Amino acid sequence: MSDSPQSLPPDEYLSAEEITTLHDILQQQLAEILSESKEELHDLTEQREVDADELDLAVSESNRDFQLRLADRERRLLRKIQRALQRMQNGEYGVCESCGNPISFPRLMARPVASQCIDCKTEMEQLERPKRAFV
Ligand SMILES: [Zn+2]
Repeated sequence: MSDSPQSLPPDEYLSAEEITTLHDILQQQLAEILSESKEELHDLTEQREVDADELDLAVSESNRDFQLRLADRERRLLRKIQRALQRMQNGEYGVCESCGNPISFPRLMARPVASQCIDCKTEMEQLERPKRAFV
């Protein structure tokens, strides 16, 4: 039980105020992605309407590609945000998934969806890099 979060000094945890701040940022990011995707799709629809018939097919083809790319990027980000909000609800937010140490407030402000402390994140990236080179 030595790795229990309870063994950490309480002042290293996020305060209720800090969690509220980060919660608001996550909610805002969520709203931004949703409205952004609507605007982008709306722009494409408008653009398509003014195009000549022969261009229409090409445009609609690239629309599909764009929508798929957009959806993929958004799905990933949305999942991360939803996961962060879920962790917040469970009281697990702000604790590194790998080592159980608190993630610093400045790091979370820069990247609210972070689920690892900077040490573990750096270590993971260093482990991943040579692995990728061999594949
Ligand atoms: Zn860690």
